[in-house]
Formats: sequence, C-alpha cells, structure tokens
Amino acid sequence: MSLERMFQNELSGFPFGFLQDVVTLLGTLEEKGISLDELKLFVREKQLAVQEELQRARLRREAFFRNSPKCPKCGGVLVLSPIRIPKGPANKNGYKSVWTCLGESCLFEEFSKLPLKEERRRKLWQ
Ligand SMILES: [Zn+2]
Repeated sequence: MSLERMFQNELSGFPFGFLQDVVTLLGTLEEKGISLDELKLFVREKQLAVQEELQRARLRREAFFRNSPKCPKCGGVLVLSPIRIPKGPANKNGYKSVWTCLGESCLFEEFSKLPLKEERRRKLWQ
C-alpha cells in the first residue's frame, strides 16, 4: 500500500488543518526534546485538573442552591443583587440590594436598604 493511500485510509477523518497542526506540534516536541509519552502525561494531568474543577464547581452550585433562601411565592431559589443607583429620582427609597426569584415564571422581588453583605447575612439568619 502506498504511503499516500495509507494516510488517506487512516487519517481521512481528520481535517487537513489539524494534520498540519500535528506536524507543527511534533516538530516542536522534537526540537525541545519532549517525548510523546511526556506530552500524553501532560495532557492527562490537564484533563484531570479540568475534571476536578468541574466537580468542585458542581458541588459549589449544588451548595448554593441548597443553602439559598427560597421564594415565598413559588419555592424557587432567591438570588441577591446589588443596586448601584444612589438614592434619588431613580431610586426614591434608597434601596441597596434586591432579592429576585430564579423561578421560571415568578416575578417575586424583595428590596432592601441594606448593602449586599449585610442583607445576605440578615436573610440567611432570619
Ligand atoms: Zn418565586
């Protein structure tokens, strides 16, 4: 089997640009004295680090939803956002934060004159 025929059979699923990148990569590895096994180990360690970060993010997200205050109307999760507009015509009551519901069709809002950190502490301890 000719070399070209063999490459066509074995590498036909890879776009030509990708193959060019592989050639560039292999040249760099050779030039820097890095073995293919070392590259595989490096990639595997990166994959594991990404998987671990995704797992930590999932656990943080679950804890966030578990520990967040719940909407009195629908039971959905409430999230707190700062209000940065100073007291004036656009913020007559001088609110500094607002709880909003993440429920799909729920429009619940609860405004507070406390800044974000204090309001969160008040709500979580009530
Ligand atoms: Zn709600």
